[in-house]
Amino acid sequence: MSGDSLISCRFDSRRGAELSRAPLSDIAARQNDLLKRHIDYLAGHSPFYRSMFADLDVRPEDISCQADLAKLPFTCKDDLENRYDEFLAVEQEEIVDICLTSGTTGKSVAMQQSSGDLERLAYNEELSFRAAGFSSADRVLVAVASDRCFMAGLAYFLGLTRIKSTVLRGGSGNASLTAELIRNFRPSALVGVPSLLLNVGKRLQREGIEPARQGIKRIVCIGEPVRNRDFTLSLLGVGLEELWHCRVFGTYASTEMATSFTDCASGAGGHLLPELMIIEIVDENGAPVPHGTFGEVVATPLGVTGMPLLRFKTGDIATLHADPCSCGRNTHRLGPVIGRKSQMLKCLGTTVYPPAIFTVLQGMHGVCGYYIEVESEFALSDRIRVVVGSSDSSLSSSFVAERIAASIRVKPEVVIVPPEEILKVTIRDDKRKPVIFFDKRSL
Ligand SMILES: [Zn+2]
Repeated sequence: MSGDSLISCRFDSRRGAELSRAPLSDIAARQNDLLKRHIDYLAGHSPFYRSMFADLDVRPEDISCQADLAKLPFTCKDDLENRYDEFLAVEQEEIVDICLTSGTTGKSVAMQQSSGDLERLAYNEELSFRAAGFSSADRVLVAVASDRCFMAGLAYFLGLTRIKSTVLRGGSGNASLTAELIRNFRPSALVGVPSLLLNVGKRLQREGIEPARQGIKRIVCIGEPVRNRDFTLSLLGVGLEELWHCRVFGTYASTEMATSFTDCASGAGGHLLPELMIIEIVDENGAPVPHGTFGEVVATPLGVTGMPLLRFKTGDIATLHADPCSCGRNTHRLGPVIGRKSQMLKCLGTTVYPPAIFTVLQGMHGVCGYYIEVESEFALSDRIRVVVGSSDSSLSSSFVAERIAASIRVKPEVVIVPPEEILKVTIRDDKRKPVIFFDKRSL
């Protein structure tokens, strides 16, 4: 059986939407059925997983439900890098697209997509956009790169065309083009990196155009969290909502997962799409943590045929919520990603993730760009240096340090430099987002 015929019957969005509102037992039964098919496919088609089963005392037929996954090892980014060729599960001629991972930590990896994988990607985005209230009446400006082998822009385009929304593929590289497309085509929704869309709005204001009057009803955010741990909007989210006078939706996704978690209208976390993904949250030892506890997100994207994965350790730290959502869906919801495992900072017995510091800086007047450098100070403690861009002479480094300390209980070293010095360090041609975290710790 080819991979495509295995999954092609599944992309029925009406059925998919119904499943998310079904009783938890029905959702679990459907997921277990799809998991068994996924395991069969891996054992039959993926050289990496075929050899994993050959080395284990576990047979594919021993895995019949999510709880059985604990019998199997995790797949890590290192496996993808070091044994790359073994992950391809179809003939090369079945590959129709290649997407590069972001390479935020480590090297960028090429994830190869079959035509079935692109259909799956489109279906994923269709359900996500529908959950956020999108319809064929929407005109959507996708301010996300579709080129340079990025998955997100392609996925959004494919998903919106399934809904029959009108898409403006504006890309992410040019704020003046984004502003021009908004002025000329009056989209009803935007998709993009929140801090960049905030800058576009401020740019329009400088031109005497009020963003709040442009008719934007929704903004779907990518790449940066817009919600706090309690699901309230972060300062960045509030800033966007006020500037554009619209609803803001958070998303979480990655190229390896090829699946997204998107806010519904209740804004209570990213709903899991049960036909496309099984998520586990694990502690440092790989053991599952209770719902509501933070841990590493481990993803098993169901139904991928080109380069399928099993128990993939994403490196992202988040928590899963199992109680039903007020929107009527019963699917689990993933809370905002609070940081990356590899970027966890340890200071005087406290654990800190860089985004907590970014959140403080985003809310401070006079701050115009920033980045963080971290070095090993002594065993089990890191030295954090926060470099802040500002041309406001009244802003002192001690004031910024106190504000950060009030939030995270650790007082870092703060240096203030002209804003252009920040841009020189953080804007890099080879990265899709500004680089604002520099890890100089010895391994
Ligand atoms: Zn919901």
